[in-house]
Amino acid sequence: MKMDAKFIEERKQDLEKRRQELLKELNEDAVKVAEHDYSAKFVDYGDKDDENAAEVANFEKNLSLEKTLEVSLYNVDRALKKIEEGKYGLCEKCDGPIKPERLGAFPSATSCMDCKKKSL
Ligand SMILES: [Zn+2]
Repeated sequence: MKMDAKFIEERKQDLEKRRQELLKELNEDAVKVAEHDYSAKFVDYGDKDDENAAEVANFEKNLSLEKTLEVSLYNVDRALKKIEEGKYGLCEKCDGPIKPERLGAFPSATSCMDCKKKSL
């Protein structure tokens, strides 16, 4: 099944926009994490155990957010590569077409709904 060129072009624009957003967010988070690192070394927490625990939890949250962003960015990059290769919109598991509605809502989707359900 041949994908509509206009549809692919629109998805490509979505993906590129998303890519820029992710890069920006990743950058901002990296700065936050770096700032935290710096203050953690020089602040004497002493009797402020509660505050310390809260800061550590926050630090871990930042790290997991960064991980999520990295995975999203990876998927966006992969989808853009597939557009270049002319394989966009094909399920990576069964080679069947991914429904346009699914790609419209989630342009970096790599598998069709059926395979997605099976893998859950
Ligand atoms: Zn599939």
